[in-house]
Amino acid sequence: MSGTVAILLCAGGSTRMGFDKLLTPIAGKTAIERSLDALVSGGAMEIIFTVSPSTRAFVEEIDCPVPCRIVEGGQTRAESVLHALECIERADIVAIHDAARCMVSPETVRESILSAEAFGSGIVAGKVTDTIVRLNETGVTTLDRSQLIRMQTPQTFRFDRILRAYQQGDLGRVTDDCALYLAAGYEPRFVFTEGEAANQKLTTGADWQLALASYAHFGTGYDTHRLVEGRKLVLGGVEIPFEKGLLGHSDADVLTHAIIDALLGAAGLGDIGRLFPDTDAAYKNADSIALLREVVRRIEENRLRVSHVDATIICERPKIKPHAAAMQAILAEAMHISPESVSIKATTTEGMNDEGRGLCISASAIASVV
Ligand code: MG
Repeated sequence: MSGTVAILLCAGGSTRMGFDKLLTPIAGKTAIERSLDALVSGGAMEIIFTVSPSTRAFVEEIDCPVPCRIVEGGQTRAESVLHALECIERADIVAIHDAARCMVSPETVRESILSAEAFGSGIVAGKVTDTIVRLNETGVTTLDRSQLIRMQTPQTFRFDRILRAYQQGDLGRVTDDCALYLAAGYEPRFVFTEGEAANQKLTTGADWQLALASYAHFGTGYDTHRLVEGRKLVLGGVEIPFEKGLLGHSDADVLTHAIIDALLGAAGLGDIGRLFPDTDAAYKNADSIALLREVVRRIEENRLRVSHVDATIICERPKIKPHAAAMQAILAEAMHISPESVSIKATTTEGMNDEGRGLCISASAIASVV
């Protein structure tokens, strides 16, 4: 992959979605950073960013793992690409990529570079699976799907060819690089991506939701505490009237502890014992909901947010169901999500195990953060 330069187009500044899609983090990283990661992992040895006044400051702060340069974007996409091409001193292969297509995989980038090395170009594209029709005065014509291609990026070329195509082409009339390459007399070679969504461009709110979902991280948590006399029973922040309570350094809220561990796991932030050691007097009889709030604060500090939690309490008695809605409300509020995104279930063990014999209460949870 020697001599591969990538042009990363960050000059969009689109506000069609009500926020800047290139600068708003998706699960902790912006589209620009995600596209950069894929290009570098896919084999780009140098990056040229094209920026607009709105994206320049952000791009200047990026810690790029390979040599990089920043150039001013033009009035159109084609002008931006031309500016970038003209400032390349030496390259064999140039990969041109729209930052808004941030779900591209390193494998796709690599394939397009290999195709350009072997055949002169590697234009990433999708096949059309929907029926497409053309409306005209006389009615509707169904187009032949096998002749239709959804053009994507990266579009990768031999440097000398694409530079010539841009310098000689009519930049006013094109929306992608392949059109100019064709106009210069070269035959394009396509690299097809798998599936419709694999290389989706962030254009609509639905694309944004898809991107968020595809970067969701999951974590699991489990906890158990001994049931003893003379202690309060607190589950999910709710004090439940019962003849026994859970023993622990904090309030021993086993449900909240399992959820905290699931969240920390999903966010890659360690575990509850590391964050709130039970050797630390500060956490003696601590309110576990306050600990949960602190965990959520740290998650949000890492540019992530809680998406969904599902938990199961394992105990013989007391009955959990009458208190589940109250737990849901308290936990949801602490995690900055709606109560519908918190699921609290309970099960018994039919008299078996320590839970069944009333010696302890356990809880397990799974959580997702985006
Ligand atoms: Mg615990």
